Amino acid sequence: MLQVENVTKSFDGFLAVDGASLRVQQGEIVAVIGPNGAGKTTLFNLITGQLVPNKGRILFDNEDITKLPPYMICKRGIARSFQIANIFPRLSVFRNVQVSVLSQQGKSGTLFRSAQKMAVEEANRILKYVGLNDKAQRLAGSLSHGDQRILEIAIALGNEPQLLILDEPTAGMSPDETKRTMDLIKELAETRGLTILFCEHDMDIVFNVAKSIMVMHHGRTLIQGSPEEVRENKEVQEAYLGGEDA
Ligand code: ADP
Ligand code: MG
Repeated sequence: MLQVENVTKSFDGFLAVDGASLRVQQGEIVAVIGPNGAGKTTLFNLITGQLVPNKGRILFDNEDITKLPPYMICKRGIARSFQIANIFPRLSVFRNVQVSVLSQQGKSGTLFRSAQKMAVEEANRILKYVGLNDKAQRLAGSLSHGDQRILEIAIALGNEPQLLILDEPTAGMSPDETKRTMDLIKELAETRGLTILFCEHDMDIVFNVAKSIMVMHHGRTLIQGSPEEVRENKEVQEAYLGGEDA
């Protein structure tokens, strides 16, 4: 579904991403791991069009999306969350999701009135699905950090994506919120057939849910493989997992 081929991105001569490659198959949960500064967020920004690579190619559904702007990439079915929650804090939780559903329907040419009504139903359905329905009328900015991150996933779902990209979805969450979020991610993949690409610090989570893991180091891809392959890889153990004892 997604093929990232040898992409490079430099900032003033500094190579944040240095020929990284990644592939994501339909229906898979894929994790990108790597120490702070490895280039994970930059890689996601390249995929979703926030940044344009200096070199390399990105294919989605076999079509080249390398130089498309973010809104066109979103239209093609890639939605994302950011490392720092990106919501409208002064709108209600419900309205945050409804706006996203409406902007998605904007392209389908539905009559305005029925589109509004459908958007209400769809927004309520999504909020129920992610477990925020009882907080729908609250201001988004008043939610706990964990709920704001989950709201961000709800907003992304309003775009009806095929591929959902999550940048450290559980960062700053309590253990309870982390579990809720990971259950949600698994559920989205298993019962809704959504393809998910995420990066995450917590190795327990990564090795628990990901079917395929890509390890990034200094902007490069060390390896991409199954959890077993990654765990057994000597280079990964040395560079990242902390030696053979890990
Ligand atoms: P990660 O998400 O893996 O922690 P990032 O992709 O955020 O890593 O950053 C990779 C490297 O690129 C870091 O050294 C970071 O400081 C640098 N970097 C990221 N974005 C920029 C930018 N806009 N300008 C300059 N340097 C950047
Ligand atoms: Mg990051």
